[in-house]
Amino acid sequence: MRILVVEDEPSLRRQLRTGLEQAGYAVDAAGDGEEGHYLGANESYDAVVLDLGLPGLDGLTVLDRWRREGRTMPVLVLTARDSWADKVAGLDAGADDYLAKPFQTEELVARLRALIRRAAGKATSELLAGGVRLDGRSGRVTLHGEPVKMTAQEFKLLSYLMHHKGKVVSRTELIEHIYDQDFDRDSNTIEVFITRIRKKLGADLIQTTRGLGYSLNDQI
Ligand code: CA
Repeated sequence: MRILVVEDEPSLRRQLRTGLEQAGYAVDAAGDGEEGHYLGANESYDAVVLDLGLPGLDGLTVLDRWRREGRTMPVLVLTARDSWADKVAGLDAGADDYLAKPFQTEELVARLRALIRRAAGKATSELLAGGVRLDGRSGRVTLHGEPVKMTAQEFKLLSYLMHHKGKVVSRTELIEHIYDQDFDRDSNTIEVFITRIRKKLGADLIQTTRGLGYSLNDQI
């Protein structure tokens, strides 16, 4: 899962990036509204953290533009403390959730996880496919109840496929959602990860549809 952070205050931006990366997300960060809008309009994100008070283009304008342009990713806005007017304006502009500053990074991560889950139509933080269970909160994966060790990239890839169960996901889409912008995106690595996941969780878990991509097999 890939997150965009738009926040002009450098220390908070760093803190958000670190917290989200530790929670297993690929993160891109922008320090002003122009750049933030550009990234959100042109890259693929599973969720966005958007500060409202930004230099140049303010957060509400950025959000409003994305929605007019048909960008539907979940957006959590950061508001000044106790500013109910900000909250109302943010929700009116199409925000999915808000958090008032100052906040705990843990709460932000939990809210983002819920937004991403809701966007995928899931009600709990546990995702199931066959005998595989993935807990987005603890970052644990089990196969028939037995814990399975996964690397961060394997976890990200499996998590994306499980959030999109029943759909064929292209290699390009996987690359866009599990790496941040600066990552060297060699699409062959996806195949390597898929091979490793199959070794750990069973050869039949992920199906390849030649020329189209990968999908999760729920019938195992
Ligand atoms: Ca700000």
